[in-house]
Amino acid sequence: MTTDTWDACDVCGCYLPVSEAAAMVDDRPVCKGCGGDPAAKTLEKRVGWAYWTFINARIPILSDRLNEQNRARFATLGWEKKARIIEQMIEKGNMI
Ligand SMILES: [Zn+2]
Repeated sequence: MTTDTWDACDVCGCYLPVSEAAAMVDDRPVCKGCGGDPAAKTLEKRVGWAYWTFINARIPILSDRLNEQNRARFATLGWEKKARIIEQMIEKGNMI
């Protein structure tokens, strides 16, 4: 029998065994629902609720700021590519 430390998810507050955390933030676990589960079947569950929501909130904001031609091009991109573009804009300080 093994013992495991349990703690609250740093994002949603659910309790989980620390050994099953998707990530640790300031010594607090992040559950797989929030932080992502690499074994999940859907992209949404693989990236986790927190990142999925973070990116989806910014896709229409970025899209609205593009000119017509770039907006049409952006719309054809897959979700992961859109997420990478948004991450780059945040890194450059053009988006928060
Ligand atoms: Zn959580």
